[in-house]
Amino acid sequence: MIHPWLAPLWRQVVQGESRRAHALLLSGAPGQGKRDFAESYAARVLCAQPNATGEACGECEGCRLRMSGNHPDLIRVVPEAELPEEQQSSGKTKPSTQIVVDQIRALRDKLGVTAHQNGTRVVLIDPAEAMNTNTANALLKLLEEPPPETLFLLISSAPRRLLPTIRSRCQQWFFPRPDANASSAWLQESIGEGGAALLALAGGMPLAAQRIADMQGHELRRRLIKDLLGMPPNDPVMVAGDWDAWLRSKNATDAGFDLPMLIDWVHRWVWDLGALALGANARFFPDCADQMQAVVARADERALVDCYNALVQIHRAASHPLNFRLVLEDLLMRYAKAVRPAQVRAQPAR
Ligand SMILES: [Zn+2]
Repeated sequence: MIHPWLAPLWRQVVQGESRRAHALLLSGAPGQGKRDFAESYAARVLCAQPNATGEACGECEGCRLRMSGNHPDLIRVVPEAELPEEQQSSGKTKPSTQIVVDQIRALRDKLGVTAHQNGTRVVLIDPAEAMNTNTANALLKLLEEPPPETLFLLISSAPRRLLPTIRSRCQQWFFPRPDANASSAWLQESIGEGGAALLALAGGMPLAAQRIADMQGHELRRRLIKDLLGMPPNDPVMVAGDWDAWLRSKNATDAGFDLPMLIDWVHRWVWDLGALALGANARFFPDCADQMQAVVARADERALVDCYNALVQIHRAASHPLNFRLVLEDLLMRYAKAVRPAQVRAQPAR
């Protein structure tokens, strides 16, 4: 299935297929459907008779094999951590979030034998930025001397993190920012009421918005807004304690709502405050613009900028925090300082 906002790109790709290289890099912001697009394209390549729009027919032998999950010529290379639990090697160590060099060696061996269905073999590498230098160099050798009848599809939300030599070996397909109308219409259908707020929070990326909806994101978002607007007079240290408990609650852990995501949302909130302070529009929380304006009116612009910059650092460190509570206190104290009314700041110390 091609998502409606990707239909123009799909047509372009199908029409320009004669100029297709043996290695493609699908790059663009996360949450817009690059993976689905790559799967659809792989399906097309493995299909004997694609339909009028260029999509796989779903009926030929190639399609049947693929849909049963057993197509020998469709090879996915992903970090072990992203595999279903039953496919992970049952070691004691945590599954790797990287694509390791052994996976590329295994791939090379697999590609050493001829294609099973006498057609093109498709290798999906996802996400390509999960390759470290060793792994990338091993892949580079394969791309430089490609096995016959093999198409490599590399998927990346962070193409700048790839080795330049890998990038230069690939034809790049850039995923443009999803069309707002097509995204809204699709979300309206899939999640109904409140889709617009989540689409904004997700920076206009429809699948990211859908994921937020799936994790009861409306509720999470409401609470975040309430707590941020309540500061001050609410004590940031107290709110940090509440958020610590919130992140550890069953609801949050079941939904996959974690510290990096929470910080990311606060970051977006502060981005909007900064935008409003500069006379621009709120991008992530447009429905809160009026309440945010009131915050901006009393906030210290400089402290807002400092808070935004500090959040960049905090966000970077958030995937491996030593202490949730300390991170949250740091974040919320900076935020409270930025939005503290000017007259309070001006009060002399007693
Ligand atoms: Zn088919």
